[in-house]
Amino acid sequence: MDDFPAWEPGLRREFPALRGEARADVAIVGGGLTGVSCAAMLAAMGVKVILLEARRLGRGASWNCTGKVTSQLVGVYQTIADKAGLKAAADYARLMREAVAGVDALCRCLGFPTQADSVHVFAETTDDLPALHKLHRLENKLGLAVAQAPDAGGCPFPVELSLITRNQLLLAPLPYLLALADFAMEQGCVIHEQSPVRAVEGHHVTTDQGSVKAAFILLATGSPVGCTSLPRLAMMQQRTCQTVFLEGGAPVMNSHLSVQPDELTLRPTRTGALLAWDLGRTGTKEHHARQQLLRRTISALLPDMHIRESHIRQDVWSGDGLPLIGPIKPQESHLLMATGYSGWGILNSHLAAKILAGHITGHPLPEAALFRPDRPSPKLAEGMRIAGAYAGGIPRLGAPVCPHMGGKLRYDPESQRWECPCHGSTFTTLGQNLDGPAMQDAQVSARQR
Ligand SMILES: Cc1cc2nc3c(=O)[nH]c(=O)nc-3n(C[C@H](O)[C@H](O)[C@H](O)COP(=O)(O)OP(=O)(O)OC[C@H]3O[C@@H](n4cnc5c(N)ncnc54)[C@H](O)[C@@H]3O)c2cc1C
Repeated sequence: MDDFPAWEPGLRREFPALRGEARADVAIVGGGLTGVSCAAMLAAMGVKVILLEARRLGRGASWNCTGKVTSQLVGVYQTIADKAGLKAAADYARLMREAVAGVDALCRCLGFPTQADSVHVFAETTDDLPALHKLHRLENKLGLAVAQAPDAGGCPFPVELSLITRNQLLLAPLPYLLALADFAMEQGCVIHEQSPVRAVEGHHVTTDQGSVKAAFILLATGSPVGCTSLPRLAMMQQRTCQTVFLEGGAPVMNSHLSVQPDELTLRPTRTGALLAWDLGRTGTKEHHARQQLLRRTISALLPDMHIRESHIRQDVWSGDGLPLIGPIKPQESHLLMATGYSGWGILNSHLAAKILAGHITGHPLPEAALFRPDRPSPKLAEGMRIAGAYAGGIPRLGAPVCPHMGGKLRYDPESQRWECPCHGSTFTTLGQNLDGPAMQDAQVSARQR
């Protein structure tokens, strides 16, 4: 298996920008794991798909994915059990188990290499033991096959106790994404890069140089671009995460996930390990302190490893832990979204492809209702209050404003991006739009750069 960042050369292939008018059964906006997984599944079913990507395939959250294919989602099941009930958590756990088998089967069909993995959730100190025991009890109830072990096999630092989930997988996510794109194209899907969608109206999506008319439109852009509905926005939270490629030190075997959901995850590569770390909610001040903690954690736990490179991206969390997959509004069944994977995109994009293909082809999956984006959210009241406070807010002097709903942007020197603290849209130093829900660039004056 190739090492990160050698995944990158796999992405050198380029696709032309959309020019002129085109028609399709389904227009997919966004070429990350979601967009490409859905394109591959739909195209294989004979559906005519056009995929539009603003930049290059796989340059969003998917760029940072560390390739763990596992139904061990640590804190996510607890959030679902607390907010949506035990049955919802058990249904989701079953779908995640099935998705591991589904991704495995898909990779075999594509001739794409995977590696067997045993995922260890560890309690680093005795303080973490209550959380680990609680997770074990819950996952037993959910029917997940987890077992306790006194050490985390192949972990480069000592731990108190760990939970093992066997028969999981590792893969190289960007080549996986590209293999899916190749397969989709062989099945007739048309892919356009450098084609940011600027407007979604009725059955039309419009880019700077063209437009697509389609029976269905899927917003596979992380946070759905253009969405200004406060309840919907309140269901999502963008969190910024860092992936660090480490080299040297003792070999790492298997994947290791802290029982504390915002702490590190580690997976082996051929010459070292990939570490993922949560920096907190996008657009807030948490990042700096979380970066410092990351540096201290690496020197304390992995002193013999050195950082070869690191990347910062963001992913979307949902209020109740369940992804948001399906029609954005119940009365407009042609406008679809899929996001809110809480940091677990490989299995969830596979699940999203199955659910959305069922919706589009008129054979809905029985479980689809669990993921409806219009379901009531327990966080709604708080989220709406925050979103409402920012919506249409008066921009203060001295900072650019978000073209989405007028929030004041905050500059993050670590990621070198402007970030919107309201709904998580991000922009380059010059104001070019990177992440939605904004669809337009921000006006950044020379003084503000
Ligand atoms: C640090 C980190 C580690 C992770 N590790 C794992 C892991 O080990 N296993 C796992 O399963 N998951 C992991 N994930 C989660 C996974 O990477 C994400 O959930 C997944 O990549 C989300 O894919 P997506 O396609 O929904 O979003 P994205 O990859 O963000 O794709 C959205 C795409 O939409 C495009 N876009 C945005 N606006 C527009 C527009 N207006 N017009 C056209 N295109 C547009 C963007 O350019 C982007 O390419 C990790 C995530 C992070 C951040």
